[in-house]
Amino acid sequence: MKYAIIGDIHANLEALTAVLEKAEECGVDRYLCIGDIVGYNANPQECLELIRSLDPEVVVKGNHDEQASSDSELIGFNPQAAMAIEWTRRQLNEDQKVWLASLPYRQTVGTKVTLVHATLDMPHMWGYIFDKFSAGVCLGYQFTQVCFFGHTHVPLAFEKFGDIIGGKYREIVFQPGHKYLINVASVGQPRDGDPRAGFAVYSPEERRVELFRVEYDIKSSQKKILEAGLPERLAQRLAFGR
Ligand code: ZN
Repeated sequence: MKYAIIGDIHANLEALTAVLEKAEECGVDRYLCIGDIVGYNANPQECLELIRSLDPEVVVKGNHDEQASSDSELIGFNPQAAMAIEWTRRQLNEDQKVWLASLPYRQTVGTKVTLVHATLDMPHMWGYIFDKFSAGVCLGYQFTQVCFFGHTHVPLAFEKFGDIIGGKYREIVFQPGHKYLINVASVGQPRDGDPRAGFAVYSPEERRVELFRVEYDIKSSQKKILEAGLPERLAQRLAFGR
């Protein structure tokens, strides 16, 4: 069994399509999604339907999914993100909003893995894990060996065996007795300086996770953002991975 773990897709259809092609090439059987299917980019409906068509084993809710599926006032979003949320609300139909709103904040997969968009301690507060201190708080609420998360769009991994160590990764083989908190990178809006779409492949039998980065048609995504009247900055940042 092989899982692709994808998230922070953010309505970027070109990036999602490229990632799914690569996942297929890797022999992936099932999909897990760590949320933020919509927001920022120009294809929320298409990305949402494509994700649903994969029949993913688990999808957890991201902050953009939550806001795009409600009509409450936008708090804690920068002006560009807020504009994109308002725009996304006008694109999604009722059925798509109900589906997004019904997603859980956190979910375990089998006995070994938990999925969450932001943090396990207060998943609905949308905190960011960038260092081993915030990772440590989250690990305190992690009751499976592995937790996959997103939200920062920066693929870092933290390992706890007594002390906590953390940093960039390419591949991790899980050691008995160690706990892992792993960010699987962003499909649709990378922010680690690498503009390529990111996702991870998890093999439970091999107790192994591997990070992949995939080139995609950034120009086409940018053109759609501008044509939709979304903020120019949202198009520009895709080229820099910031
Ligand atoms: Zn996100």
